Formats: sequence, C-alpha cells, structure tokens
Amino acid sequence: MLTIDTIRRAPKALLHDHLDGGLRPATVVDLAAEFGYPDLPTTDTADLAVWFRRGADRKSLELYLETFAHTVGVMQERDALARVAAECAEDLAADGIVYAEVRYAPELHVERGLSLDDVVRAVQDGFLEGERRAAAAGQPITIRTLITAMRQFERSVEIAELAVRWRDEGVVGFDVAGPEAGYRPTRYLDAFDHIRHENFHLTIHAGESFGLPSIHEALQWCGAERLGHGVRIVDDITVREDGSIELGPVATFVRDRRVPLEMCPTSNVHTGAVASIAEHPIDLLRRLRYRVTVNTDNRLMSNVSLSGEFAALDEAFGIGLGEMEWLTINAMKSAFAPFDERLRIINEVVKPGYAHLRASQTRVVAG
Ligand SMILES: [Zn+2]
Repeated sequence: MLTIDTIRRAPKALLHDHLDGGLRPATVVDLAAEFGYPDLPTTDTADLAVWFRRGADRKSLELYLETFAHTVGVMQERDALARVAAECAEDLAADGIVYAEVRYAPELHVERGLSLDDVVRAVQDGFLEGERRAAAAGQPITIRTLITAMRQFERSVEIAELAVRWRDEGVVGFDVAGPEAGYRPTRYLDAFDHIRHENFHLTIHAGESFGLPSIHEALQWCGAERLGHGVRIVDDITVREDGSIELGPVATFVRDRRVPLEMCPTSNVHTGAVASIAEHPIDLLRRLRYRVTVNTDNRLMSNVSLSGEFAALDEAFGIGLGEMEWLTINAMKSAFAPFDERLRIINEVVKPGYAHLRASQTRVVAG
C-alpha cells in the first residue's frame, strides 16, 4: 500500500474544488471576528471543524449545501476573499498539488456591496499571492479558476459574461452548481450558448444527486466538456453475472469521446450519492478506462485532502503509483488551461515526479 508521505510527494492535479468549501476552520473564526459576522454556531476552532463535518455528512445534497451559509457569510469583503484564496493556494501546494482549478460563485459574495468584478479581482489577487508564497516555500503550484453560476439564482447569463471577461486573467471556464432537483441543466441554455460562442470552456455539475437525464442534457443540450461528479453514468452501464459489460448510449458516448468525469469520492458518500468509498463507481469506471479524475469538492466540509482521497482509493482498490499517475495525467489532459501549459506540466513536472518516486521506491526495496 502507498504511504501517505509518498502520496503527498507525488505531483497531483485537481479540477474540482470549491473556494467556499475549503477554508481553514481558524480562518473562518478570524474572519467572523474581523468583519463582524455574528452567526457562527461556535467560535472554537476545533468545535467548528467538527460542526462543518457533521453538517455535511447527512446523505443529502440539499442539507450538505446548508453548511456553506457560514463560509460564504465571512467571504463578503475584499480582504477576506483575498486571504481565503491565498491560503487555498498554499494548502493545495502543501498537499503536493501542482495544478488546480478552483471554482467559486461570485454572486454569493456581493452582500456587502462588492461588485461581481470586485469579487473576481480580489480572488485573483489572493491566488497570485498564494502562488508566490507556495513557490517561495519550494512547492510551486499553478492555480486557475472557474466561475460558477448558482442554479437557484437566475443570473447565469450575467455570470457567464463575467467569466469570459476575466479569461485573460486566470479564469479558464464556467460551471453551474447548487441543488440539482428541479433545476435541470437546460434551464441555463442562454448562458451555455454564450460560453460556447465565445470559444470558452464549460463544465457542469450533473449526475450527482440526480440521474442519467441530467448527464445527457449537460452533454447534448448544453455542450459540457466535462462533468462535475457524473457518478450516475453507472445507471447506463450493466455488469452481467458472468462479468461481461454492456454500455448504454450515454455511457458509450462519455467513454468514446473521453468526457472527463470530475469524481469526488468522499463528497459523494456525504451527499448520499454513493454508500461508501468501497462501493464508489470510480473503481468500475477506471477499470473501463473512462477519463476519470480524482477531486476533493469541499475540503472543509468533507474533511479531506486530495492526498487523503488517493489514500482511500489505494486502500479500497489498491491503485498504486502507476494508476495514480494515470489519474493525474487524465486530470492534466482534461484541464482548461491552454494546451502548451498542460503539456509543460505533464512532461516537466508530473512524469519526472512519478519516475523519481518509483526510482526511490525501487532503491528502498533493493536496499
Ligand atoms: Zn462541486
């Protein structure tokens, strides 16, 4: 089995991580005091961490999302947003992540008068600062962002325009998130049309708590390039008793077209999308060679890191370093950063990193 130290040292890529789901508990407490947010359930850092985790693990996407009121509540000022983004970059780099796309919904951060553009500026400034600190600490990371529109607000076209406006300053794509039931992807076609007509990038949360139809719509009506979660794709895959496998039309399309699946194992257990890591469809999907990627979703609420997710997968399925490298290259190939940047990270960072780790493991065995 891989040690957590080996997993941490292995270069990793992350495509699905929410800025408002990854705060340090101590920072939530600090910001609430600094900016006068009175509604935290407790101001004890350890108790608060436990509260977030209990709040998230209730087997319902809607209940899971309730915990975000408090992180979003303390992210309403320029300095608060910049601090959260800078610490996010530092935390991801410290976990051995070399490339990350972090997403957030600017429309959630305008309660105290910031404009949508003010929010994006503050977050970009924070990420630049975090990248500088990570490089200075000897763990360089490249951070890009995705701008998310919330399903339950009706501002998706405005948010899509905002994402495109910031494309030359670190924003690489657009996403929709929030409760799936009652908010099918086709409600936001105007926003998706704008993204595609601007030759920009699109990923959609689909097939998390809602079934195969949301995946089908996200791909064939909305033009999603990647699927956020997408776990319900297994509803279109039949595994017979003799072990043979039959793919339905959606499952065939997703595999043939190499549609990336942004899978978030622990988060899926917490929202009730799957029963346990051991039963997570990621094992079947990786064995069928879908374009699977491994992600954190919400590090605070699910109490996870990307290294922790890989450790859980290694424990459940024995993925080893070889499969970890494959999953990481899958993520880099699926990233929305430009091709030359992806290629540089794969060839100059990821492949040499794994080669080095394998060589050192061989030395340990030989020695
Ligand atoms: Zn998500």
